[in-house]
Order: sequence, then structure tokens, then C-alpha cells
Amino acid sequence: MHEHDQSQRSGVGTIRLVTEVPGPRSRAVVERHARSVSNAYDLHVPVVVAEGRGASFTDLDGNVFLDFAMGVGPNLLGHSHPRVVEAAAAQARKFSHTDYAVIPYEPFVELAERIVRMTGGGDQKVALSNSGAEAVENAIKLAKAATGRNAVIAFERAFHGRTLMAMTLTSKQRPYKQGFGPFAPEVYRMPFPYPYRSDDPSRAGAEALEVIERAFVTTVDPQSVAAMIVEPIQGEGGFVVPTPDFLPALHELCRRHGIILIADEVQSGCGRTGTFLASEHFGLDADLVVLAKALGSGYPISAVVGASDLMDVGPGRIGGTYVGNPVACAAANAVLTVLEEEGLMERAADIEKRVVAAWEDAASDVSEIGDIRGIGAMMAVEFVRDRESKEPHQELVLKMMDDAARRGLVAISCGIHGNIIRHLVPLVISDAELDEGLDILTSGARSLR
Ligand code: PLP
Repeated sequence: MHEHDQSQRSGVGTIRLVTEVPGPRSRAVVERHARSVSNAYDLHVPVVVAEGRGASFTDLDGNVFLDFAMGVGPNLLGHSHPRVVEAAAAQARKFSHTDYAVIPYEPFVELAERIVRMTGGGDQKVALSNSGAEAVENAIKLAKAATGRNAVIAFERAFHGRTLMAMTLTSKQRPYKQGFGPFAPEVYRMPFPYPYRSDDPSRAGAEALEVIERAFVTTVDPQSVAAMIVEPIQGEGGFVVPTPDFLPALHELCRRHGIILIADEVQSGCGRTGTFLASEHFGLDADLVVLAKALGSGYPISAVVGASDLMDVGPGRIGGTYVGNPVACAAANAVLTVLEEEGLMERAADIEKRVVAAWEDAASDVSEIGDIRGIGAMMAVEFVRDRESKEPHQELVLKMMDDAARRGLVAISCGIHGNIIRHLVPLVISDAELDEGLDILTSGARSLR
């Protein structure tokens, strides 16, 4: 990274850069990191956080950055939301671990009740775990137990985590899968509609369904399929929004063949799109729903929720030492209280409008902007070398992210070609902060193309 831009010092916004980026204190820690931490942790920005508040954080050198990555999604209520901090601290003072299956505690039960309520109520139950991948593993186990079948269907560009089954379900080979085989058997990959890259965007869903129906004849017997796992809006895969017909039709197809449909809402869920589940935008009521990330506002907690007959798999069949850790449960209960009581989900629609307006304005100058898409606070912009060929333009995105970090904004990409900028902004971001960050990104796109 380069010398900081002097003009940022006198800026009136949130960002405040007082040293070069990275500053000397951050550099010293990053040097220690290089000596003692596996290089698998490929640091996105070389600045070391000291503390975070809302949409911003301060680094060890006193520089204040805006954060459009939010820990890759969990901090949907911003860094250190006061009600979450208070709930976690209060719980930590009481007790922080018993193993729920040995000595149960109320915050676990309360969280299960809240998740049932937030996902439509009725005769549902919840299993808690620590990470998205772990909840995905549980959802697959539950579907296998319920159906007595072995096969699982996942989608192109899907990301479901890094444990063996979750990694197998994940689509992108590098860096997630390369050299880590053999993978779990009986996983079949089907197309997920990508309207922007489809010859006929309105038929993208129908075309994907035709391929799946054909695969049920040529590739896998639907009677052997336990589950399909789908992200209602793909996250790591590029914030790809399917055509509105796709998810309801997929569910119908599953019903016809006795297949459990699992909605992986790890990235899309918990209010990011303006509804508690992204599934709601499509009228999808999946058999099992997987939640993580924003559920715990940075504390490790994940969940599977579904009908009692699917969830009641028998004593000891799923679990783990730390699942539903009390401090994480307390944090998650605070998150869901804030979402229910403060009307924060409504903020997602304002965020969408502002993000779209800024990028539509930039698109008149920047022909590399191929697609602006998403729902609510789950918005992304896809960059291409030109709008005809739609060839992915990762190089421009890399330059934009580097430039943004130098100017005080952390932004991250997604998509199998890394050519998509995603905005994982918190619902608590102010309009001024959002505009400040968008200005950096759009001016970067204009000047770096
Ligand atoms: N599922 C989806 C849709 C995700 O986006 C992710 C993480 O990015 C996961 C599962 C895995 O979650 P975790 O990293 O908590 O294991």
C-alpha cells in the first residue's frame, strides 16, 4: 500500500487517516503474523484492528476506516453493538460453558424459541452449532436420517463451508478444494440460474430446472437423493439472485421426489435483505434452514431450523462440546431482540436504493460495470472487460479494493472469478457513511479503469 492521501486528514466524514496505511504499529504485528501464523490466512488488508464501532473501526495506529466487509457478513448490526456487547458480557460474568447436553441453560432454549418465531413459528425445532459449515453438516445429516437416502445435490458457484461435507458441497475449486480430496461421495452439482450471464435472463431459472430434471434421468436417481442445498441468493458465488420462479419450482420438484430442500441462509439470512430470511422474497418455505454469520453478530453460533419430525433425530445424534455456547447464545438473543424491536430490517431497502443510485450513476461513465444486483443490504456490482463479451474483470476489482483500503475503506469481492464487489454494510450504517464509502468505490472505478 501507499502513502495516505493528505486530503483524507481534513475530511469531514468518518474515515480519518493519521499515518500512512498501514501504519508502523500495524506493520509490526503483520510482520509477527508472517513469522508465526500459517500463510493460509491471506490478509486482505494489512491494518490491525484495535476497536470497532458501528460501520467503522480504528486500527493500532489510530486510523479510522469504514468497513464494508463486516467480518464477511456477521456484523450486520455493526461492530460492537451496545446491546450485544452488554448481553455477552453479562452472560460471560455468570458462566461461559457447561456443554448444553450435560447441564442445560436458558439462553439456548430462548434462542431456539426466537429462531422458531422469526422463521414462521409452528411445529419447528432448532439445533445449534458453532459455524456455518457445522450447521450445514447437521442439515445434511438430518436430511439423510429423515429420508434414509445418501445423495445430495448442490449448485454451481455454491459456498457452504470448509469441513469435509461442506467443502464437497462448495463449488469453487481454488483455493477451497484443490488438493483436499477425496471428497464426500454422492454429491451432484446442478446449475443455479445466473440471469446476467444467461442468453435469456427471464428463462434462467426455467433452464436450470430443465437441466436438473434431465439429470434425474441421466445422472442420479431422484429416489436416492436425500437433500438439495441451495443459497436463496448466492453469497461467495457472486450475490447471484435467481429468477423469481426458480426456488418455488425447485421446492416443488423436491416435494415430488421426497427430497429435503435445505436453504443455506448463512450469508443471506437474519435480516440482511430486509426480511428475516432471503427465502421470503421468493415465497420459499424450505424444509430446513441454516443460519450463522449475522445470527451471532461476531460470536460463533449457527443453527438449523425445521419441522419437528425432521429435527427430532434421537438422543446424542448431533451435538458437540461448544454447540450453542451460552455467551454466543446471549449475543444472538440480543441480535434477534434488536432486529425485532428496533425495526432495523427496514433499513435494508434504503441501503439498496443508495447503493443502486451510486453505481447506476457511475455506470454511465464506467463501461466495465456489467451488472448491479442484489436485494436490500446484500448488493453487489459485477465488473467486466466490456459489456458485450462480459469477460470477468478481476484486475479492476483488485485495484479498486487496494485503492479503497489506502483511502480508508475495507471492501471485499466475491464471485468465482473475483470480479464482483460486494457491500456487506451493517444495517446501522448512516447515509453519510454509506455515501462516503460508495464515493471511494465509484471514484476508484472511474479513475482506475
Ligand atoms: N454457507 C454460506 C452460504 C456461507 O456464505 C458460508 C461462509 O461464508 C458458510 C456456509 C460457511 O460458514 P462458516 O465460515 O461459518 O463455516
